[in-house]
Amino acid sequence: MPEPALADLTTLRLGGPARRYVAVPDADALVAAVTEADQAGEPVLLVGGGSNLVVADEGFDGTVVHLTGGGVRVADAATGVAVTVAAGEPWDAFVARAVVEGWVGVEALSGIPGTTGATPVQNVGAYGQEVAQTITSVTVWDRVLRGSRTFTGEECRFSYRHSRFKADPGRHLVLDVTFGFERGALSAPVAYAELARTLGVAVGERAPLADVRDAVLGLRRGKGMVLDAADHDTWSAGSFFTNPFVDADRLPDGAPSYPQPDGRVKTSAAWLIEHAGFGKGFGLDRDGARVSLSTKHTLALTNRGGATTAALLDLAREVRSGVRERFGIELVNEPVLVGCTL
Ligand SMILES: Cc1cc2nc3c(=O)[nH]c(=O)nc-3n(C[C@H](O)[C@H](O)[C@H](O)COP(=O)(O)OP(=O)(O)OC[C@H]3O[C@@H](n4cnc5c(N)ncnc54)[C@H](O)[C@@H]3O)c2cc1C
Repeated sequence: MPEPALADLTTLRLGGPARRYVAVPDADALVAAVTEADQAGEPVLLVGGGSNLVVADEGFDGTVVHLTGGGVRVADAATGVAVTVAAGEPWDAFVARAVVEGWVGVEALSGIPGTTGATPVQNVGAYGQEVAQTITSVTVWDRVLRGSRTFTGEECRFSYRHSRFKADPGRHLVLDVTFGFERGALSAPVAYAELARTLGVAVGERAPLADVRDAVLGLRRGKGMVLDAADHDTWSAGSFFTNPFVDADRLPDGAPSYPQPDGRVKTSAAWLIEHAGFGKGFGLDRDGARVSLSTKHTLALTNRGGATTAALLDLAREVRSGVRERFGIELVNEPVLVGCTL
């Protein structure tokens, strides 16, 4: 059987061939495959759900290790429950289970594609929650020290869409992630205004776990942020740019502003993109358009079918320079770029 193209492994459905492809069902097989490639001096690309990857049209000249399989172990803890999740476990299946079991703290992260092992890498977050709030430890294989290590939540150095794993790309293979949950029927306090409005509660109030999951899934579907093969608006890597942090005196008039402990403010990349003249669906009216902004959300760059990574990156550069020219703010890509640059 021919090696699969990365386009078959990524939610953008983009990326050329892999020189070599290995599917691994569990942590032992993952470590064995990566160690073999390391000893042969061969580059490795670890792929989970492929939902945060932009891979060059030329593909990857090395071994793609594709982690599948999963598993969840549950133990009682002093104040609730400790749940250890294998890296290959699909994230949203785990969230669905957490909601049913009454494990509080990941319900607002419903509908995010990909694997659980990738969630600590960029400290996955949405609708006022991030995994940093419930991760108590992460066990990794360290490719430099050639051994396994366990980091506490604090040692993971989580910040907005960042962690020690993202800071040191490729070094750590996440093998499993342990979460500490309170048990309950109600969610963690709802921290996101749009979600609170949808649920009919005030920010800071709780709501039934299942209601929060349903509300988040509804909001996400409306923005093309739940995978749907029939909907090109979801042929994306999610948000293409992170929300920028700027000095308060450089915040554009009317832009959303979330004050940070260091005195700066976080603003909305989607707002900046829209107000720089790139509306929903930007690019679709061009002749033979194969890439565009999502028609439901300006922050997602999408493959309309038959696109190339080169075209997607051209669109990303166009948006980034438009925002820079209009507001003097530099947008930074959120997905991991493989074999290509922005
Ligand atoms: C429609 C859509 C909506 C999204 N919404 C959100 C959102 O709301 N919030 C959010 O934060 N993200 C969101 N994302 C981005 C993405 O889903 C997350 O970043 C997700 O955690 C990526 O998981 P994955 O398994 O697909 O990782 P992949 O895309 O396969 O890999 C991403 C990176 O992580 C590395 N990696 C993967 N697994 C491991 C592992 N076990 N150990 C070490 N490194 C690993 C890879 O090598 C790569 O560098 C969205 C994406 C899409 C397509």
